[in-house]
Amino acid sequence: MLTRAAALQEIAGRRFEVLVIGGGVTGAGVAFDAASRGYSVALLERGDYAIGTSSRSSKMVHGGLRYLQNFDLGLVREALLERQLMVQLAPHLVYPTPFLVPSFAEERRDRKLGIGLNMYDVMATTRVGRSRREMRSSKQQDEDFYWSPDRHRTIERDEVLELVPSLEPCDPNDAYLFYDCQTDDVRLVLTILGEAERFGAVMLNGAEVTEVLSRGGRATGVAAVEAESGERFEVEAENVVNATGVWADQIGPELAEEEDVPRIAPSRGTHVLLDREDLSTGSAACIVPAGEDRHIFALPWYGRTLVGTTDNDFDGDIDHPRPGGEDVEYLLDAVNTFFGTAVGESDLVGAYAGVRPLISTGDPKKSVDISRKAELYETSSGMLTITGGKLTTWRRMAKQTVDRLVERDGREAPCHTAELPLGREASADEQEAPDGVGEEAVAQLAFRYGYAARNVLRLAGESPKLAEPIVPGRPDLLAEVVIAARLEQARCVADVLLRRTRLGLLAAPQLRDADAVRPLAEALGEELGWSRRQVKREAEAWPAALAEAGADPAGALV
Ligand SMILES: Cc1cc2nc3c(=O)[nH]c(=O)nc-3n(C[C@H](O)[C@H](O)[C@H](O)COP(=O)(O)OP(=O)(O)OC[C@H]3O[C@@H](n4cnc5c(N)ncnc54)[C@H](O)[C@@H]3O)c2cc1C
Repeated sequence: MLTRAAALQEIAGRRFEVLVIGGGVTGAGVAFDAASRGYSVALLERGDYAIGTSSRSSKMVHGGLRYLQNFDLGLVREALLERQLMVQLAPHLVYPTPFLVPSFAEERRDRKLGIGLNMYDVMATTRVGRSRREMRSSKQQDEDFYWSPDRHRTIERDEVLELVPSLEPCDPNDAYLFYDCQTDDVRLVLTILGEAERFGAVMLNGAEVTEVLSRGGRATGVAAVEAESGERFEVEAENVVNATGVWADQIGPELAEEEDVPRIAPSRGTHVLLDREDLSTGSAACIVPAGEDRHIFALPWYGRTLVGTTDNDFDGDIDHPRPGGEDVEYLLDAVNTFFGTAVGESDLVGAYAGVRPLISTGDPKKSVDISRKAELYETSSGMLTITGGKLTTWRRMAKQTVDRLVERDGREAPCHTAELPLGREASADEQEAPDGVGEEAVAQLAFRYGYAARNVLRLAGESPKLAEPIVPGRPDLLAEVVIAARLEQARCVADVLLRRTRLGLLAAPQLRDADAVRPLAEALGEELGWSRRQVKREAEAWPAALAEAGADPAGALV
């Protein structure tokens, strides 16, 4: 990515065909899709890329088995096809995980779930009436043929315990096994933005859109404020796209009739992370009953166990959603009951909460029942707003938006994103690791950056200091801090710890004070030209940022 200074110079006072507001997965997708169809594109993000809901998801690229209960069949089918496509386009970053639904003692296997899983399998196939073997041997690589996971099956006790040894004390009979995919949501956003830039899009974070400019009732661009200087600048645009997720109803309301804009019904989801010594699901994920016919899951993620999520209507501060104390208790109760463990709040290595941008229909449904469908709105000003949806369906949402622009402009510009790789894959053993960089670090770099991991390794090879871990015992390297500042527009310690790496969520207790982040702040400061005093100030600002995110479980839970 361009540096912030260069991006600001490219954007301020210029004219673009498409101006995207919001640097979450949806905005990144729109910028990528539009740029790859030949539009000139700029994207402005108020905080940091993915700072909103796109860094706070459950990290699953999935069809959403539970939406079958609501008969959201179109949504599930669409998401399953996208899931397959994402594994194909970003194999280093989106990977399948086996999910288990175990049954115990006298319990009979849940037949209803079995039917649901059959539907899930059928909906994930791209050619009805042809077996997977036939499809594989046909070598037909047309656009309808993608990677697809194995069908679900029932596995016996031995295989259950092989996958999840910690279930032994609960004495499982057997389990349903099916597949869904996982990712790192922020890295997905950064990867999409990187691809958008390859097609000429320019993006800037720390740039809040404060006004949608208009002439004769038509949106003609935006005014924004750059965070560090506080300076206002304007950007002219033929098309303005509002991709601000849960904030979508706050952009340009003066230009819209009430019925032309979405009304957001925010719903908060809390997640907690545990050390695998305290709770491990081995190499698989488990679906865990959580009372009242609700389920949560426990997933392996970055060497920790991720437990989530809750889904409750939320009327708190959507700018700083924090894990709710009751929600944390609810999640811990559910896993303790299921696994026979006794983990408490003080055992957590991290926690986070996100707010879903669900669209209110005015119907007083609970948030769990509100559809995850995306909605595209066009106001009389011409501004397009795209919100709702899921991390998994970002590409479809972007396509839907840019298709509308293309139609409006009468252009011949088909969408290419189903064929464009996201980053470049590189296996861990292709990477040359300098001394002191272990296998775990190399594998994590290959997952996170794909082929570009070699940039990190080169830096680590040039300077032994940069080959050191950011947090002792974790595989993330100080060289990544340099890359974050140099190539990914990171501006502060929180940008690195909460988003470029996920250490703030994975090792919060080790990051409680300013001293713990001093080497990181120094590496960042060296890149960003900070004085010694600023390095100290930035390190000292971190504990407040950690508390604001609610990521440190021993900190205040609200
Ligand atoms: C708890 C939870 C779990 C989830 N789990 C999953 C899952 O496992 N799989 C899945 O597929 N989906 C999941 N989702 C849904 C998914 O995370 C969201 O649908 C998706 O991330 C929304 O992305 P977005 O880009 O629309 O919004 P956001 O990521 O919120 O992006 C909007 C951006 O706009 C910026 N912005 C706001 N106002 C302005 C302004 N004035 N100027 C400039 N920028 C501005 C914000 O800073 C923000 O970065 C989950 C959601 C939640 C809450």
